[in-house]
Amino acid sequence: MTLFDTWKCHICGEERPDDKISVLSKPLIINGQVVLCGQQNIRYCNDRPACIEGAKEFSFFKGGEENGVREG
Ligand SMILES: [Zn+2]
Repeated sequence: MTLFDTWKCHICGEERPDDKISVLSKPLIINGQVVLCGQQNIRYCNDRPACIEGAKEFSFFKGGEENGVREG
């Protein structure tokens, strides 16, 4: 049993305690097409406006680079 669960924010890259991290689930879109079985879960600091805003724009597949999530 761990005392604190920490999660890494995808936006600022910091490890934060569980209660400071929220998850935004977005459909996975590659080359403008929605991948039906894909979903990206973007973790962000819910107490940092920059991270909240960043999560809305964030995509693992920006620029066609695969980074963390795989389709399927
Ligand atoms: Zn953050």
